[in-house]
Amino acid sequence: MIIGSHVGLKAPDFLVGSVNEALSYKANALMLYTGAPQNTLRKPIKELKVEEAKELIKKHNLTVVVHAPYILNLASPDEEKRSFSINFLKQELKRVEEIGSNILVLHPGNHMTNTMEEGLDLIVDSLNKVGESNVKIAIETMAGKGSECCYKFEQIKYLMDHVNYPLYVCFDTCHTFDSGYDLVNKYDEIFAEFDRIIGLEKIICFHINDSKNTLESHKDRHENIVKGNIGLDTLKRVVKDDRFISIPKILETPYIDGVAPYKEEIELLLK
Ligand code: FE
Ligand code: FE
Ligand code: ZN
Repeated sequence: MIIGSHVGLKAPDFLVGSVNEALSYKANALMLYTGAPQNTLRKPIKELKVEEAKELIKKHNLTVVVHAPYILNLASPDEEKRSFSINFLKQELKRVEEIGSNILVLHPGNHMTNTMEEGLDLIVDSLNKVGESNVKIAIETMAGKGSECCYKFEQIKYLMDHVNYPLYVCFDTCHTFDSGYDLVNKYDEIFAEFDRIIGLEKIICFHINDSKNTLESHKDRHENIVKGNIGLDTLKRVVKDDRFISIPKILETPYIDGVAPYKEEIELLLK
């Protein structure tokens, strides 16, 4: 079982601190942003205590996943914003590799004033400009909030069919439920549908979150394990599904009164 959570990356320990945070949750996986998730200011990798962290990662056999900042928009109708996102992503892929990870989770983009189809075509074009690297890009299943692209499996498949290198998927339980896939009552049907449209082997990461909202709300509000509308049974079913046993599972549930809930929530999910 490979399970962990989102962790911070902050001074003075940077990546070493991130790894130790994961270890404090008894996790064997961690996901981090290479800087603040909501901006694109990045420190040089040299300043992030990478070598020291890599030793710990090896010693504890940890899986490291990186999440791209969510303000990138590869589908932006504004060409300048799009090319900024493309260039940032190119640099980010190098950082991911330097950190010793090979998975970058990406929110594909928002079509904004364009149609969904136009948005998807811009993402294809942008990803082709980013180009293939040693890092696997995992397109996150989105909630369909605002003008988010890729809240339907077919939309992810469209990217896969048109980008000229392989893409993968990060399956977020909260987002998928929020976008209208009823994991609670139609678990087998939904994964069968995913398999038919995309292929289960394309999933290289799971985000295990409950949802504050009901099915098809398109709101993207994560909830703690046992407190949301998906429920512990269904989340456990994903975590313990034999087909996904070797795939990293990352919790992104909210802090409770300023305290990270991950150690307890991981324990609950593994029980
Ligand atoms: Fe995400
Ligand atoms: Fe997520
Ligand atoms: Zn989310």
